[in-house]
Amino acid sequence: MPSTDAVLVLAARSRDGGLSRSSAELLTAARRVAAPVAVLPEPVDDRICGELGRYGAERVLSICAPELDAVVGAACHLRPPLVLLPATTAASREIAGRLAVRLEAGIVTDVVGIDRGPEGISVLQETCGGRVRVASTIVKTPAILTIRPGAVVAEPEAGSCRSPAVEDLCVTPASAVRAPRLVRRVPVHPLDGRLLTEADVVVAGGRGVGSAEGFALLAEVARALGGCLGATHTAGELGWAPDHARISLPGNQIRPRLYLAVGVSGSLRHRAAIRGARTVVAVDRDRNAPILREADLAVVGDLHAVLPALLAELRRRDRARSTSTEPSEPSEPSEPAEA
Ligand SMILES: Cc1cc2nc3c(=O)[nH]c(=O)nc-3n(C[C@H](O)[C@H](O)[C@H](O)COP(=O)(O)OP(=O)(O)OC[C@H]3O[C@@H](n4cnc5c(N)ncnc54)[C@H](O)[C@@H]3O)c2cc1C
Repeated sequence: MPSTDAVLVLAARSRDGGLSRSSAELLTAARRVAAPVAVLPEPVDDRICGELGRYGAERVLSICAPELDAVVGAACHLRPPLVLLPATTAASREIAGRLAVRLEAGIVTDVVGIDRGPEGISVLQETCGGRVRVASTIVKTPAILTIRPGAVVAEPEAGSCRSPAVEDLCVTPASAVRAPRLVRRVPVHPLDGRLLTEADVVVAGGRGVGSAEGFALLAEVARALGGCLGATHTAGELGWAPDHARISLPGNQIRPRLYLAVGVSGSLRHRAAIRGARTVVAVDRDRNAPILREADLAVVGDLHAVLPALLAELRRRDRARSTSTEPSEPSEPSEPAEA
């Protein structure tokens, strides 16, 4: 049955089995324009169903199939005017493109805002490192939108204790109308199973780190903080960090609670890609490095002295925690520090 007033949202679980942050953001964005219907490419349990309802999903389509087949199957079943997908990973962006071909739909990528106005649904995109905003109106449906992670603040629906209706659907490859041919798939190694764009802690290095060995030390710091390793474009191009660790405006924009930048000067594009970070700590020997102006805590010093000291302190605290019943309090950063 076609639904003229529904937005289909591709939802996913977080690592702990709940609703992923980007799915909560997508549902929040979808609610601004129509009733969200979530498609989950796996079985639905009470926990995920409850969280989907809390963020406004009116229906949940459970389709045990690969994400692309699931979303194509759901779109063919529902025929919604809009489909919202996360612009979180290269894989999700690939799904958006392939879905647009299969549905013969229009596509707007990397959307940072969505609203319903007198002329219909309007969307916002950013260009020139976020300095220019482009507003477009959707004139042809169906339309696929990919939403930039962190662009919409995830908010549960006010007063909702909705229990969405769950439908189990089967899709066969027959639902895959006119599949574009997949020429080559390059495997991407997940960062310890986590996504850079979803990480709460990101520890990133730039050219200043100086070598692959320096990045190995940085990876240990990331591990000690329970975070993911990131890198500037240049550090990636130098082969010191894997491609998928690159923090970039068109690719991995991050929004961790803590961003630790080491030997990163803070180019305009890099700063735009970390704009969603809540707390920025930067280590650089040049007190005029632009990243230090962005930082909540700026450490002016040689990273080759700061990193080993930081790692030793993190390990000391870890040991103290595991031998004590009293958890130790992290000290509050206040003044920019000289190392
Ligand atoms: C079209 C275009 C798009 C781009 N998009 C992106 C993007 O999306 N994301 C991105 O990251 N980059 C992007 N770049 C590249 C970007 O402009 C920078 O060139 C790149 O980020 C390099 O930055 P860096 O911090 O690695 O190195 P540098 O700019 O060389 O900075 C290194 C820093 O390390 C410090 N340092 C050196 N040695 C030490 C030490 N021993 N201890 C402490 N500090 C030290 C230096 O003082 C310096 O501040 C783009 C470039 C172009 C042209």
